[in-house]
Amino acid sequence: VSVTDLVSESYKRIGDVEDKVKAFLTFDEENARNKAKALDEKLGTDESKGLLFGMPIGIKDNIVTKDLRTTSGSKILENFDPIYDATVMNKLHTAETITIGKLNMDEFAMGSSTENSGYQKTSNPWNLDTVPGGSSGGSAASVAAGEVPFSLGSDTGGSIRQPAAFTGTVGLKPTYGRVSRFGLIAFASSLDQIGPITRNVEDNAYLLQAIAGVDANDSTSANVEVPNYAAALTGDVKGLKIAVPKEYLGEGVGEEARQAVLASLKVLEGLGASWEEVSLPHSKYGVATYYLLASSEASANLARFDGVRYGYRSPNAENLLDLYKKTRAEGFGDEVKRRIMLGTFALSSGYYDAYYKKAQQARTLIKKDFEDVFEKFDVILGPTTPTPAFKIGEKIDDPLTMYANDILTIPVNLAGVPGISVPCGFSSTGLPLGLQIIGKHFDESTIYRVAHAFE
Ligand code: GLN
Repeated sequence: VSVTDLVSESYKRIGDVEDKVKAFLTFDEENARNKAKALDEKLGTDESKGLLFGMPIGIKDNIVTKDLRTTSGSKILENFDPIYDATVMNKLHTAETITIGKLNMDEFAMGSSTENSGYQKTSNPWNLDTVPGGSSGGSAASVAAGEVPFSLGSDTGGSIRQPAAFTGTVGLKPTYGRVSRFGLIAFASSLDQIGPITRNVEDNAYLLQAIAGVDANDSTSANVEVPNYAAALTGDVKGLKIAVPKEYLGEGVGEEARQAVLASLKVLEGLGASWEEVSLPHSKYGVATYYLLASSEASANLARFDGVRYGYRSPNAENLLDLYKKTRAEGFGDEVKRRIMLGTFALSSGYYDAYYKKAQQARTLIKKDFEDVFEKFDVILGPTTPTPAFKIGEKIDDPLTMYANDILTIPVNLAGVPGISVPCGFSSTGLPLGLQIIGKHFDESTIYRVAHAFE
């Protein structure tokens, strides 16, 4: 096949299903077809070819793309055309992928269902009445629906892994610092990571390979060698030590999710791995800690949307203060406002010690729980989510129930370690379930090795 065929196939599938799935916010068809043509000229020559030569990819809309509309799911950026590319986009250009379009998401990545998008609701391809998860719901749904074979998402508290679990795809949150955040529209800078969503583990390893590495433009990117991830896909898990936190199979976790994990452990045992129950005693503080810290960071990061520099500007303002107020009141959605208020409160003098500082201390304890377990074990295993995908509208009026959905993914971001979600069976209602595999800092290879053992 030619690259042109691949790109045509992608847009054809989009033409067939997109009116039901609604995964995309923007398409880049003319550029994609031109680039395909250019790459096709290399076919059959001995010119060097990129790692993902000619592969169609969709990009979450909080990753800036030069001259291509980038909204972060928010009305406040409805007319924003970036003048530069994120580092991951430059890396994808080197890998010679083809950008098909930009993908729907919860506004500024705040949400677990993609219902907080300022533009449209995305459906889960497995059952159009259910959510695809979030905030990278468009990234996961587009891959699950066969519109693109690869996508990029971002994960601050579960936004790659949870939608991957809900849509039966493979989604990895890399170690904090593994992938450059330069050009990722910031939500909570100490937690955000860009990562790959794909149909299988092998594709996932190749996409991480293409985007990983230290970057002079992101001082939090880590100068740690990037291994050959595909080399880890041996299927050999003999002697591997697996920890299963009792908190991940206990209260609040559905019976089907529990059974699916136990069945996966049986498979791994059959392949020569062993497992033991452990405890992550502070993980019960994860959700509270996360919502304080993430909202605090968000309140600072979102201060830049003031109607002056770029993005939406309210036409109704009478003076400068009024311009700030009206622009933000009209431009931000409810969930974003809720987080800004919570974060501003937590950071205000007089409350800082009681909330922000306390949450930082809790974060240290949560991180230490993981370090203790990883002294004796190679990976931690559990469900990605307590339940499979829920109905559109089911949780949208109850933020706390929505937040609780992330109880199994959030501690991983707080600890900074990598985690993947891989499909592990179906619920009685026919919806995919996800298995979460958590690894040591910068040890994505072992995660891939375990994940690949299921394929
Ligand atoms: N659902 C979580 C939140 O609303 C996580 C989002 C994310 O990872 N970006 O903050």
